[in-house]
Amino acid sequence: MPYQHILVAVDLSEECHAVVERASTLAQTHKARLSLCHAIEPMAMAFSGEVPMDLSLLQQQQQEQAQEHLKGFSNRYPSIQSSAWHLTYGQPRAEIHRLVEELACDLIVVGSHGRHGLALLLGSTANDLLHGAPCDVLAVRLHRED
Ligand code: AMP
Repeated sequence: MPYQHILVAVDLSEECHAVVERASTLAQTHKARLSLCHAIEPMAMAFSGEVPMDLSLLQQQQQEQAQEHLKGFSNRYPSIQSSAWHLTYGQPRAEIHRLVEELACDLIVVGSHGRHGLALLLGSTANDLLHGAPCDVLAVRLHRED
């Protein structure tokens, strides 16, 4: 059964283009729709919610920056319509799983650094996404220069 709607998760980093390219190729092969998403991670979550300060201004700046980044990132893909790009606010796993249900996607494509040991324990988005995923998940191996 060919996939019908692929959702690719992007952190807007340079290396993530390889993930989008893989997802685009798959979408062409399967004649599937392609949607892309970036989840802006809440500040309070990034600081474990222990920072006693008003984060609303920072959050607004974070949102504006993410919008700018997304614009730059998506410029490389003129064939992908802006309506297929989803910028959401929240924890990546919850947001991506929610979008999968909302858009009726049947495959998530995500980058993976293939971490080991402590780095793996500290968390990877690909690993996190697998837990409770409502559809198939493809982890595209990324190779870091360092
Ligand atoms: P990480 O485990 O944080 O190194 O991220 C691995 C992959 O997870 C990235 O290559 C993206 O595909 C995806 N990812 C990470 N952070 C986000 C995010 N905030 N929104 C959407 N996808 C993300």
